[in-house]
Amino acid sequence: MPRLRALLATLAVLVAGLVGVGTAASPPAHADECYTWPRTLSAGATGADVAELQVRVAGWAGYAVNMAVDGSFGAQTSQAVRGFQAAHGLSADGVAGPATYAAIYALQDADCTPAHFSWGEVDGGCGQGGYAGGSVGEATVRQNLLRAMWRAEALRERMGGVPLTVTSGFRSQSCDRQVGGSGTGQHTYGTAIDLVGASFCGLAQNARYTGFGGIFGPGYPGHDDHVHVDVRAGRTWSAPSCSVSLGAATRSSNLGG
Ligand SMILES: [Zn+2]
Repeated sequence: MPRLRALLATLAVLVAGLVGVGTAASPPAHADECYTWPRTLSAGATGADVAELQVRVAGWAGYAVNMAVDGSFGAQTSQAVRGFQAAHGLSADGVAGPATYAAIYALQDADCTPAHFSWGEVDGGCGQGGYAGGSVGEATVRQNLLRAMWRAEALRERMGGVPLTVTSGFRSQSCDRQVGGSGTGQHTYGTAIDLVGASFCGLAQNARYTGFGGIFGPGYPGHDDHVHVDVRAGRTWSAPSCSVSLGAATRSSNLGG
């Protein structure tokens, strides 16, 4: 029996250890099923938790700012946190602490998608579902889609909570060719989503403020029945039928993360 007793003792230690982890760490304000930030973050911070924050606030950094998700809390991240805080009735100090996290948790589903977008509407087009067969691996596709969805959530909110529908998200290379694409476009990376649900010019114009590097809308070939937005680096905007130009930049977009 000593072996059994030893096993039981080991189990007891393991259980105690598990309980200990739960009680010894400083308790988060709200344990979130997707991700719980372990600390308050402000300018100068670096780490994976900064990158998690950047994914969720990137749509609030302002006009023509397509901020990097680089794990480094710089000027654009401060700006994005302030924008998110102001939009959610919080004191806009640019520091991400318990109140800011609580607002993010309230907006975040257990599968890490924002409240009004879901994995089911952005996975493989052409009826096959999933995230395989793209220009990058499935994990990267999903990471890119998550970034696009959180920026779309900001766009939805900026437009007064208008329900937006995704008509196309990730497409495998073969699917992309099937629908007339090049087979290597933004949709094959998971960086792009096509949206309907509001005036197309309104969507295209507002998307300039919510972190999208690529925007194609009315007047751009093939884009009169939806607005395409993507999180590519840099800026490529075109919606010639809309009265307001999409091209003019009023703010430097290379301030760093
Ligand atoms: Zn598209």
